[in-house]
Amino acid sequence: MHEPAKHQRTSELTQAHIGIIGAGQLGQMLALAGIAMGQRFTFLDPSSQAPAGKLGRHIQAEYDDELALKQLAVECDVITLEFENVPVSAVTSVGRHNQIHPGERALSIAQDRVHEKQYFESLGIPVATYQPVDSLAALEAAVLMIGYPAILKTRRLGYDGKGQALIRSAADLTDAWAQMHNHPAILEKMVPFIREVSLIAVRGLTGECAFYPVGENQHRSGILQRTEIHPADPAQAEAEVYARRVLSGLDYVGVLAIEFFEHKGQLIANEMAPRVHNSGHWTQNGAVTSQFENHLRAILGWPLGRTECIGHSMMLNLIGKMPSHRAILAIPGVHLHDYGKEPRAGRKLGHLNIVGNTQTECRVRAAQVEQLIRHGN
Ligand code: AMP
Repeated sequence: MHEPAKHQRTSELTQAHIGIIGAGQLGQMLALAGIAMGQRFTFLDPSSQAPAGKLGRHIQAEYDDELALKQLAVECDVITLEFENVPVSAVTSVGRHNQIHPGERALSIAQDRVHEKQYFESLGIPVATYQPVDSLAALEAAVLMIGYPAILKTRRLGYDGKGQALIRSAADLTDAWAQMHNHPAILEKMVPFIREVSLIAVRGLTGECAFYPVGENQHRSGILQRTEIHPADPAQAEAEVYARRVLSGLDYVGVLAIEFFEHKGQLIANEMAPRVHNSGHWTQNGAVTSQFENHLRAILGWPLGRTECIGHSMMLNLIGKMPSHRAILAIPGVHLHDYGKEPRAGRKLGHLNIVGNTQTECRVRAAQVEQLIRHGN
């Protein structure tokens, strides 16, 4: 699918035209990084309110609209995506006319939790014990093998904790299955992890890889609340070994995130996202090169930028309600990223990157921010 002549061409471009499937906040932040490097953008997204629409041309069409996909493919120099639930057939269509990164294989693995676990296992990467489940009877049989507590998730289209049910005892089985609405599911053993970490990795067209410092993530109701970076994190080396296997196994180009549980001193892979990731947003203000810039460098065949952190960093998501910009920005070391979305309960509206010279400085600033958010400024 990848023609060397095209790689040569994109790597020589100074004013590349990038096509992005999806125009949400990730597309917006990719474009902000790319415009700074002289690129222009066209987005394909069905929503008229898509945040990135204001930063380039917006083709308002469904993700399976063949004509729109072809238009995107032929007008742009290279295509990427910011949303992993784009139909694989869309990537196949675009791939007939132009380069698209990530490719079909990465996308189709990441769209199905069972395929994802099988892929990790094939590379010797530990995963939670699991069983595919497609009926209540299959769930009853699976839980006998896995035990309690367990977590039932839809195989496809789950995000931010949606489509998941905790099973503590046999009394929860019927309800949990009902929550899957008859969709194929996966039963996983609950991992009593001590923390959740993620690694943002990037691989260029010629196979070079770079890794950001791992971030420690805190979720509430399945939604990422904060990411904290600990330079020289003890999980770094193991996470990089696993990520390198994932990237080279897929001949991957661009940024990819892997989320892990840390349990008994070992990393257990939970899931991967073949795109820039919320737990890598800190890199905008806390790393030498942001994940957004590095993704664009990778897909264009340009040299990757350095991934080291600058001091200490923390990222806090702004969910449901936007605090006063003025009050937030009065706290030193705080950088605001507002996606320009209408506020709604549970919706990610933006994030704050908090930087400091020490971990304590960062944490004190984060505590001030959290207090401001709690008390409504
Ligand atoms: P996911 O959609 O798989 O990222 O799950 C959302 C969140 O649910 C994770 O970040 C964890 O906090 C929790 N979770 C998911 N799967 C498991 C598991 N097998 N064991 C323990 N916690 C889990």
